[in-house]
Amino acid sequence: MNRRSRAAILTVGTEITDGQIVDRNSAWISKRLTDAGVEVVEHRAVADDRIKIERSLRDLVMRVDSLFVTGGLGPTSDDFTRELLAKFCSRELVFDEDSWNHIETRFASRGLTAKPIQRQQCFFPRDSRILKNSAGTANAFSFDVEEGDRTVRIYALPGPPIEIATVWAEHLSSEIETLIPKADRDELLLIRTLGTGESAIAEIVETLIAGSSLRVGYRAHVPYVEVKLWYPSREKSAVTPILDAVERSLSPYIVNRGNEDLADVVISAVEKGRWLSIHDRATGGLLEERLRERWRSAEVRSSKGALSVTTDLVGVAQVTNREGFDLEIEVFEVEASKSWRLSLKKKGHDARKLEVKATPLYNFGTDRGRRYLCERVFQELASFGL
Ligand code: ATP
Repeated sequence: MNRRSRAAILTVGTEITDGQIVDRNSAWISKRLTDAGVEVVEHRAVADDRIKIERSLRDLVMRVDSLFVTGGLGPTSDDFTRELLAKFCSRELVFDEDSWNHIETRFASRGLTAKPIQRQQCFFPRDSRILKNSAGTANAFSFDVEEGDRTVRIYALPGPPIEIATVWAEHLSSEIETLIPKADRDELLLIRTLGTGESAIAEIVETLIAGSSLRVGYRAHVPYVEVKLWYPSREKSAVTPILDAVERSLSPYIVNRGNEDLADVVISAVEKGRWLSIHDRATGGLLEERLRERWRSAEVRSSKGALSVTTDLVGVAQVTNREGFDLEIEVFEVEASKSWRLSLKKKGHDARKLEVKATPLYNFGTDRGRRYLCERVFQELASFGL
C-alpha cells in the first residue's frame, strides 16, 4: 500500500513573523497539494535568521517527502535562503548564465539596466533544476536530498504570491499531479448542515465512524457546520454503508453536499429565466446582501429572469408591483426574535407557508440568527423547486 506523500511548507521572512504581512503562500500551495492527494503536515514561518532557517530545514526534511521553501531569494543582504539550502545539501552554489540573461532581459524591457547585486539571484546549488520565473527576477529551483532511505525533494520558491503562481503553473502543477495516482488519493464527502451546533453534529458522526478508516474534519462557519469525511478510493465499498448511515442520521440538518453555496442556486434559477420577487421583512437586509455578493461573483452574462429584493429596513412596508414575477417569497416576523413566517407562492398556486422558529443557538434578534434565517430561506427555495 502506498504511503501518502507528505509535504511541509517553510515560509521565510521577518515581515511574516513580525506580523507586517499575512502568509498567503502556505495556504495557496497547501490547497494545490491537498487537491493532488498530498498530505500537508506542517506550515512553518521563520524570521530571516540563519540558525532558525537551518534548524527548520533539518527538522522538516526528516518528516516529509517534499519541502516547499518560499521567500528569501531576492538580491538583498537579508535574502539568504539559497545560501542556506546549498549548505544544507552540501553543494556549492554555481552561477547560471541563463538566469542572468533572464534578469537583464526583464530590466531591459523596462528600459533599465540590471545591477550587479542582482547576480546573487543567479546562483543555485550544483545540479539543481532551475525553474524559470517569468513573473519576476528570481528563478525558483528544486533539488533532491537523501534522508536515510528516502529521497526528499526541496523546492525553493520566491516570496511574491504572483511569482509562486506563475512558477507553479509553468513548471510544477503537472509534476505535483503525478505524485499520487488518482486511484490512491483520498475521496471526500462534504456535508453541509444547518440548524444545530458543531458538537451535536460531531456526537452523531463520531459514534458512527468509530473504528473505520474514515478521517473526519469539522468546520463551523456561521450558520453552517461542515462535516468532511475522507477515505481511500480503494476502500469505497467498505465505507459506503457507514457514509450512508452518517447521511441518514444527519438528514434533518443536511443542507447540501459539496461546496455549493445555496445563494448560487437562487442566482442560477434567475439566470435560467425565473422571475423571482423576495419581500424581506425579517433579516434586516442580509438576504439582499447575500444575494448581491453572489450575484457579483456569479458569471451572469445574460440573465433571462429577474430578481427583486425589497426590504423594510425603515419599518415601512414597501409596495412593489409584483406583476410578471412567477415566484414570490415573503419573510416576516411573527413574534419578535422568536418566530418568522416564510411564504412561498408560485403564480396560479396557493402559497406554501412555513414557520421558522428561533432555537437557543439561533435567536433571531442576533446577527447569527438572521444569517440562519437567510440560509433557511435559500434552503426552502431550493427544495421548493426553483
Ligand atoms: P524579492 O526578490 O521580491 O525580494 P524574495 O524571494 O526575496 O523576492 P521576499 O523578499 O521574501 O521574497 O518577499 C517579497 C514580497 O513578497 C514581500 O514583501 C511580500 O509582499 C510578498 N510575500 C513574500 N512572502 C509572502 C507570503 N508568504 N505571503 C504573502 N506575501 C508574501
